[in-house]
Amino acid sequence: MSKPHRVLIARFSHESNRQNPETTDEQRFVVRRGLDVLRSPSGVLKGLVETLAAAGAKIEPVLSAHASPSGLVDHHFYLRVREELLDAIKRVAPDAIGLDLHGAMGTTKTPDAEGDLLHAIRLLVGPDVPIGVGLDLHAHVTCRMLDDTDICIAYKENPHSDTVECGQKVAELLIEQLEGRLKPVTVSAQIPMVLPGAQETASGPLAEIHAKAREYAALHPSIRDISIYNVYRFVDDDEIGQVVTILSDGPDAESPSLAMDLAARFWLERERFKDDLLTVDEVFRLIRNSPEKRPFAIGDMGDRVAAGAPGDSTLLLSVALDHHPGLHAAVPITDPAAAARAIEAGIGATVTLSVGAGFTPGFTPLLLTGQVEHVSDGDFIVEGPLGRGDRSAMGPTAVIRVDDRIDVMLTTNPANTIDPAAFTSQNIVLENLDFILVKSGYHFALNFGVRATPVLVNTPGVGYYRRGYFKYEKARFWPEHSFATPKITARQHSVGNPRKTVARTLA
Ligand SMILES: [Zn+2]
Repeated sequence: MSKPHRVLIARFSHESNRQNPETTDEQRFVVRRGLDVLRSPSGVLKGLVETLAAAGAKIEPVLSAHASPSGLVDHHFYLRVREELLDAIKRVAPDAIGLDLHGAMGTTKTPDAEGDLLHAIRLLVGPDVPIGVGLDLHAHVTCRMLDDTDICIAYKENPHSDTVECGQKVAELLIEQLEGRLKPVTVSAQIPMVLPGAQETASGPLAEIHAKAREYAALHPSIRDISIYNVYRFVDDDEIGQVVTILSDGPDAESPSLAMDLAARFWLERERFKDDLLTVDEVFRLIRNSPEKRPFAIGDMGDRVAAGAPGDSTLLLSVALDHHPGLHAAVPITDPAAAARAIEAGIGATVTLSVGAGFTPGFTPLLLTGQVEHVSDGDFIVEGPLGRGDRSAMGPTAVIRVDDRIDVMLTTNPANTIDPAAFTSQNIVLENLDFILVKSGYHFALNFGVRATPVLVNTPGVGYYRRGYFKYEKARFWPEHSFATPKITARQHSVGNPRKTVARTLA
């Protein structure tokens, strides 16, 4: 019997919003090392582990470091993790490498951390060790990343219900490559535009573009994956746009035109990618008029921690307190100082605190008096399905009840509230509420499931792209900038060969 393939695996995952003024340092990351990495893995990492184990590979787990989306990662911390990973690769000398990266990590020094990381790994191992990566479909995927990876593919669903499947596929393709059954070549086509709305993949124009991609893949046996990336908007880099990648076994003559066709569909359908969020007034009217749908889970789009915002908005809380007596709710607010004061006062104490607006420019703090209901270290385990089993660290957390009806959850770190466990771990009973405020745009619908009616609200903050709202120095894209027709460029990436431009439309 031949020796098992030795595959080194790691996860280094963060979504870094440069509009968030806080730097994300080491303390925000949940880090595991060695065999601990295999303890209840989630997402891409879980898929990698399951499939590699089933294929009889010898898994060499090195490191798992992830943090809730937030501001740019401290570059020194990034460099330390990179060195640790490179040292392990040198020591283990694996046959292949499988990585779980989000793909939108930026540091205080570079907007494309994954491009830097993958390049450093490739320089170390040379062209013959396969590198496979699973990414979020909101990755800031760059040519640098594609040049240095053999296999680089994304989830296909938003909300992200298929993260494990993505990891499984990366592992399958890695094994095929190790066994000489796959010579991966990737063609990417990029169009400089972002989607103002209609971002879910199960309906609307994205569902149609994904259906077309599946049709193309089914007709071309050499095509092994088509991934469609919908851009990370909170980065300022010269490559920003919708990206379609087609991975084939050897160069596929038709991949460039298929990738160009799929990318062009974004432009053709641009009027359908509309921002159709409800206003704050409309959302409160909906809550009052539809008691049978309670509790509602309201996605605070502007202050989305799930997109790297600080989570310190008081807007919806102040509207609920001032204009909607009788509504019962749970509202998370990031405020380390207020959380510390409430914890110090202790359960049962009445406190008066200034809360919120500590980080996001332009937000207004709120003076609240309430009773401390619960205090904790803020750790909880995500129920999922998205991120099932991940430990999430809100930091020291206190719940104060205001006006006998609203539980304000004061957290030290921006809280990952896509999951009901963020609230239930703090003794908040969801079923008693009219609404739960969540700092997420899409994924909470998946994790709350039947426990709440999801609705999105248009609110200010750094977690939601609006034309003209943010400053971009390098990035050029529709609708921020006007184009008669944006240029689409298709390139071919294959490890060990220089990148080639294989097709281009005229601007
Ligand atoms: Zn995403």
